[in-house]
Amino acid sequence: LMYSGKYFQGTREELLKRVNSVMSEKRFRHVLGVEKAAFHLAEKYGEELEKTSIAALVHDYAKEKSDDEMIALIRESAIDNKILPFGNNIWHGIAGVEVITRELAIDNEEILQAVRVHTTASSQMSLLDKIIFVADYIEENRTFPLVEEARKIAEENLDFAVKFELIHTLEHLIAQNAKIYPQTIEAYNTWVAGMK
Ligand code: GDP
Ligand code: FE
Ligand code: FE
Ligand code: FE
Repeated sequence: LMYSGKYFQGTREELLKRVNSVMSEKRFRHVLGVEKAAFHLAEKYGEELEKTSIAALVHDYAKEKSDDEMIALIRESAIDNKILPFGNNIWHGIAGVEVITRELAIDNEEILQAVRVHTTASSQMSLLDKIIFVADYIEENRTFPLVEEARKIAEENLDFAVKFELIHTLEHLIAQNAKIYPQTIEAYNTWVAGMK
């Protein structure tokens, strides 16, 4: 896939090198798996491949930043400080957008929004948001028991795949007594409980 230069000032290979340099080999393999799964969904459901590629490649860009760096960034930027108690699982998408903007000069709002909501989902999701959210869950390196069923559902209906992922993520978080981010609950109410 050739990038046009509209969204990132460089080639896909240059972006791959940047992404590879900020994460472990294992996470980089996950990112490549997300891009592959997202390409498949983009072709199936009709999303642009260049935006899909860039969103997939940068979605976990901030995942291995130190807590100190992420906390400092959240404090000094316009990001709502209410995310502070939730930890990096929640920070790396929402505050990750700030990192991607600064370090990679990506400013396309559709790409940034897909990164912002890739962990929690959202009550309002674009096609690209759904593709990245679902691809992150079903990519080929994922091995949890329900992944085969999630992959099958994603072939049938992307909204059902969002719903399935939210149900099982919430179940998992509740089983761990984890802090549930309000936007995750909002997404659950919309996609699972039918609240509009
Ligand atoms: P990854 O970055 O590829 O590992 O995947 P995600 O960004 O989708 O998720 C990171 C972690 O955050 C996973 O373990 C999710 O289950 C978890 N997560 C999703 N929603 C919430 C939430 O509302 N609260 C908390 N504490 N964790 C969440
Ligand atoms: Fe993530
Ligand atoms: Fe996810
Ligand atoms: Fe991910």
